[in-house]
Amino acid sequence: MKFGGTSVGNAERIRNLAKIVQSHLSRRPVVVVSAFSGITDGLIEVAYLASKGEEFSAKLDGILDRHYKTMDELGVGHGTIKSETSQLRSFMNRLHESKELTPKVLDTAVSFGERMSSRIVAAYMTRVGMEAVAYDAYDIGLVTDSNFGDAEVLPEAYASINKKLARAKAIPVITGFIAKDKEGDITTLGRGGSDYTSTIVGSALDADEIQIWTDVNGIMTADPKIVSGARTIDSVSYAEASELAFLGAKVLHPKTILPAVEKSIPVRILNTFNPTHKGTVVLGDVKAKSRVISIACQKKIQVINLTTSKMFRMHGFLRQVFEIFDRHKISADMVSTSEVSVSITLDGRQQTGALVDDLKKLARVSVMRDRAKISIVGKGMAHMPGIIGKWSSCLGNMYIEMISSSTSEVNDGFIIEEKYADEAVRKLHKRFFGS
Ligand code: ASP
Ligand code: MG
Repeated sequence: MKFGGTSVGNAERIRNLAKIVQSHLSRRPVVVVSAFSGITDGLIEVAYLASKGEEFSAKLDGILDRHYKTMDELGVGHGTIKSETSQLRSFMNRLHESKELTPKVLDTAVSFGERMSSRIVAAYMTRVGMEAVAYDAYDIGLVTDSNFGDAEVLPEAYASINKKLARAKAIPVITGFIAKDKEGDITTLGRGGSDYTSTIVGSALDADEIQIWTDVNGIMTADPKIVSGARTIDSVSYAEASELAFLGAKVLHPKTILPAVEKSIPVRILNTFNPTHKGTVVLGDVKAKSRVISIACQKKIQVINLTTSKMFRMHGFLRQVFEIFDRHKISADMVSTSEVSVSITLDGRQQTGALVDDLKKLARVSVMRDRAKISIVGKGMAHMPGIIGKWSSCLGNMYIEMISSSTSEVNDGFIIEEKYADEAVRKLHKRFFGS
């Protein structure tokens, strides 16, 4: 059972968490927690101030006070995090001297967030009668490579975690997000990495189920900020969930579900604010043959168009184009070609001036900005006859600039001007989900 930042954000949330864990005691839960909401960002800020030799104590005191206040409200003594708070203070003081803020230093700085939250949660659970013990993930075998800021778990971690936790009698409350490399230096699994910790631990233990407790009712048929009638999807396949994550639905990072996929462990996304809602379960495969599950929308897309008559019947042209992309380390997303032109979409936040200059050596180039990519996502869409007609006909006279379809098993996508995006999503949602 993994609880994110908002689920441990204050005393009331932690009381709620304890109740949720209590209601699952018969299934022998293992708990993974994030830092209190906003604390990781706060620690990064303090580290930057300290490393620039600036005054940081006020900000740091604010962070510690938030923890103390929560502990007071929970009836947990400040001694629970005494060692962490004193280490954190001396760490920042040293950083103020050395002024050396490397990714490695930053990982240690942010590690204090989870190290404090896990101890507070375990202490409170114990106080209310559930025996719980806090563990730093690295002390139970979560070992990674040394890619600070975005470390990758090493294969041997799984067996060590299993061995360590098999003997645990009390409920383990484990730090999400953090680990150590083989040299014993603290690493992190990337922002939002507590989800990943939970699937690593769940996989190591051959868990029945991995529960990600968050602040929404699971994966939705569309962004509820755009479509008021958006609904929760009961179950999605791993492939669909990964596709949705790549398409900007922020529920689960694709990397996160891999350990669960390998062992076919269901991952259930649940809402701590609405704990009786059954949420969305992510499964190895779902029974449905073919279906549409969600309308996703990514904004701030740019489209690069290349036109040249040289391309006609010439081989190797696309290779030259993509070599230029490769050289500039820019990844292309959607691609569509005709005999004399190529259109390529990419994230509009990327700097593309130099790329375009190089592409101009090859062809005439025009760039369209403020575009949106809308995707109709679902399993087996390639085998749904008439599917393109079904979605395109509801868009009326909205001008579709590019389409990618049917080669992908799990989505059809198209590009339109960003200003029409919300309306298009609403129309598609109505067509496929009736509201
Ligand atoms: N506390 C970390 C972050 O804010 C990890 C997480 O919340 O999953 O990114
Ligand atoms: Mg998160």
